[in-house]
Amino acid sequence: RQGLSKTRQQLNEMAGPLGVDVKDVFTNRLETLEDLEYALIAADVGSAATAEILEDVKNSGKKDLQEALMEAMTLQLEPDARRAQLRKLGFTPDARRATVEPRGSVIMMIGVNGVGKTTTIAKLGRYYASRGKRVMFAAGDTFRAAAGAQLGVWGERLGIPVVQGADGGDPAAVAFDGASARKSRGFDLLMVDTAGRLHTKHNLMEELKKVKRVIDKADPGEPAEVWLVLDAVTGQNGLAQAKKFHETIGLTGVVVTKLDGTAKGGIVVPIVRELGVPIKFIGVGEGPDDLQPFDAREFIKALFD
Ligand code: GDP
Repeated sequence: RQGLSKTRQQLNEMAGPLGVDVKDVFTNRLETLEDLEYALIAADVGSAATAEILEDVKNSGKKDLQEALMEAMTLQLEPDARRAQLRKLGFTPDARRATVEPRGSVIMMIGVNGVGKTTTIAKLGRYYASRGKRVMFAAGDTFRAAAGAQLGVWGERLGIPVVQGADGGDPAAVAFDGASARKSRGFDLLMVDTAGRLHTKHNLMEELKKVKRVIDKADPGEPAEVWLVLDAVTGQNGLAQAKKFHETIGLTGVVVTKLDGTAKGGIVVPIVRELGVPIKFIGVGEGPDDLQPFDAREFIKALFD
């Protein structure tokens, strides 16, 4: 619940009072409608989704504007096909919590520098370890100076072993060692950190593809999960990058960080709509516990309560 207060505050301020009658809004109070539209756009919900939301509010048959709005927004967090079906049939959204149980034994974590990738790996390690999994890390960002040391410090704090490579060494070799070590030591889960330098983007993509191939070589079928870490503060720019990563590497999940630091928490809507990849977790602070499994209904509730 905590962590979304900036978005909540701005949304509520801009949208004005929401405890009003839906019918009244669409007939007499068009300025309320305009305020609401502007508030959604300002929260980075995106224009296509905003238009759909307002249409769904209008057709909802609900009396209370806030209630209709929350339902219409929750519907935007359903996968595309499901959303279209539900809208056509006028059903309420299911909005199930994303499955955060990893499918296999290796999660490859990718994302550009500064988005919070290393911190997120630490948080996830803690999350799964505290639920009884035996977790290992592989410090595959050998490019950013001190990234390996940073993960090493987290590992020590959390009691999670870290497979290290040399600074500037071959990231694929670290990933291979990590995947082999997880298998031979019988650990449940390996999280592989990767480089995120932005200049030399083409090389980065090639490197990530190689890391993925090499993990599969060490442990066939892995990585079963490839999760992209996205910084909510970067908004639409981050989304364009995310599409590139998805096209090139293939994503199975997204973690959205720094939602505590922005009023643009509505960005989760275009992430779901345009990427078509489930959001697994959200980051809401710098501490090791500031991570929550993504729950669409809870998320939307937290934007209004
Ligand atoms: P990396 O370069 O992607 O590995 O980024 P780091 O993990 O080093 O994180 C960059 C900065 O973002 C650090 O100062 C983190 O503490 C901070 N950070 C990471 N996740 C969050 C979050 O959810 N909220 C906030 N406020 N800060 C975060």
